[in-house]
Amino acid sequence: MAYTLINTRPVGRPTPEALPTALGAGQGALVDSFKRRVTYLRLSITDRCDLRCTYCMPERMTFLPRKDVLSFEELDELVTAFASFGVDKLRITGGEPLVRKDIMELMARFSRHLGNGLNELTLTTNGTLLSKYAGELSAIGVRRINVSLDTLNRSLFEKIARRDMLHDVLIGIDAAIAAGIKVKINTVALANINEQEIPALIHFAHERGADMTLIETMPMGEAETDRVEDFLSLERVRADLSKRFTLTDLNYTTGGPARYVRVEETGGKLGFITPLTHNFCESCNRVRVTCTGRLYTCLGREDGADLRDALRADPSGGLLREGIRGAIERKPKGHDFDSTRLASPASPRTMSHTGG
Ligand code: SAM
Ligand code: SF4
Repeated sequence: MAYTLINTRPVGRPTPEALPTALGAGQGALVDSFKRRVTYLRLSITDRCDLRCTYCMPERMTFLPRKDVLSFEELDELVTAFASFGVDKLRITGGEPLVRKDIMELMARFSRHLGNGLNELTLTTNGTLLSKYAGELSAIGVRRINVSLDTLNRSLFEKIARRDMLHDVLIGIDAAIAAGIKVKINTVALANINEQEIPALIHFAHERGADMTLIETMPMGEAETDRVEDFLSLERVRADLSKRFTLTDLNYTTGGPARYVRVEETGGKLGFITPLTHNFCESCNRVRVTCTGRLYTCLGREDGADLRDALRADPSGGLLREGIRGAIERKPKGHDFDSTRLASPASPRTMSHTGG
């Protein structure tokens, strides 16, 4: 079924097809001073969220004033510029991207670059609104998504996410799969909280043909939890899982920091992302832009550029392109997360601001 935006676009807004695409702009590739080529942009489109995961944000989170957040037009200009520089993978994140008003209008705008600069348009979501949007996401060309899920236990979900919404997430995952979208489940491993849940989550994911990735907690922003107490080394998780499952190392990579194994008993893939115990920076091909237009060239560091100022100061886009190029040239060699410094954030920004 063809996707149409007729009912969602305010009068006077251009159709996605009428907007310029990146192809032909001939900006050249983004290569940093360590000869790494940047081809992957993770773009946060909102800092708002309908959950309050304890490791991510405080219960009484103060969200940004709307004027500080990039408009659809600004986000679009930014994506067009990155695509013109050879960035071919775009991951939309947040906050919770699906809570942004008129989200499908924005996604449809981005989707016009597919096959025309972009090879992949994907998103990371908590899944609560997926049952509403899965069909439309599939129709505009979203083929894969990451869904965050830390437990299958309703009361534990409410404890971690501070909202009783497990059911919404579960029907969302099934709606995405039914719409033909490949789902990957992302689970943050938390000591003594969801540690015991991991085998059940593996079965849940693999039974649905979904891969799963485990993530160590990162010292991002001021959360209300004790990160030292909650930190669970994935080395320990892997050792525990090995008693239950046969784990075979795979060469498979998605270009990201995850190291994958095949779980022989389920036939599915399981990834381990260990930012604190393993340095994955040497092959880093990605940058992040926050919903306020701040470009971060490394997750754990402050290096980058304020692209919102550039966007707002120069409608020709010249300053924007200069800002992007300059920041990529300064991209640091690697992050400086350190498990001995978990108690104080390595970065003052929360993941919901930067985008995970
Ligand atoms: N709301 C969406 C979601 O939860 O998938 C997208 C944004 S969220 C910030 C992206 C990912 O970051 C999620 O998988 C979440 O579990 C993870 N995350 C958030 N705070 C984290 C932290 N302090 N350490 C490790 N992962 C974190
Ligand atoms: Fe929201 Fe995602 Fe942060 Fe949870 S991890 S509070 S779902 S932004």
